[in-house]
Amino acid sequence: MLTEETPTSRPRKVRTRDQILGASDKRDGIYERILNAVMEHRLIPGTKLVEEKLAGVFQVNRTRIREVLARLAYEGIVTTIPNRGAFIASPSVEEARLIFQARRILEPALIRSLVAKADGEQFQRLHAHVAQERAAREAADTRAVIRLSGEFHLLIAQMVDSPPLIKLMRELSLLTCLIILLYDSPNVPACPNHEHTEVIQAMEQGQVDEAVRLMLGHLDHIEATLDLSLEEDTEVDLEHIFG
Ligand SMILES: [Zn+2]
Repeated sequence: MLTEETPTSRPRKVRTRDQILGASDKRDGIYERILNAVMEHRLIPGTKLVEEKLAGVFQVNRTRIREVLARLAYEGIVTTIPNRGAFIASPSVEEARLIFQARRILEPALIRSLVAKADGEQFQRLHAHVAQERAAREAADTRAVIRLSGEFHLLIAQMVDSPPLIKLMRELSLLTCLIILLYDSPNVPACPNHEHTEVIQAMEQGQVDEAVRLMLGHLDHIEATLDLSLEEDTEVDLEHIFG
């Protein structure tokens, strides 16, 4: 899975990711490739990350892999279970709700910060990013659509230029990718292009409150496409089975 060609091997997309993620992340190819695989739904929740296999795939020693897994565990992307190993996290319904709650707090603040300092060049980059999303959608490149949708939100954080906020947004964005994979209804687009464009346009016109309202509506739409009643249903089924 990790050896197949990834979009990072295509020059255009490498540039985009480099813009979005900080310079320190560029140095860590293994970490980056695992994150990319999560963002593109190639690594799914519950997947066991076997140190030895990863060491073979990336041709590094197991210590190096352990360092990457520890970082991913710290960020909540990987869950470590004693005596069993490391797994791609499977956020619960409750965790999913908390992640959206955190995004509703963070993303309006990012928009307010960006509008206060953004220039025309930054808005052009945001529009260019949405154009890439649209192209991926038209090409039916689902993996790219999922990744680019999440990266739009990261790009806003990156433009605000605060490393702690970029870190928070990246983690929330990755966890959202896992949540979408766990709970999404099939055939529902993760982030409709026109909603991203509306947010950019409101910011461009200096309509901060409107941009915040549109972003919150956008997050509501994403959450609404998820079936977060799954876990409750499962519990009812268990009672039925053992009752
Ligand atoms: Zn979005």
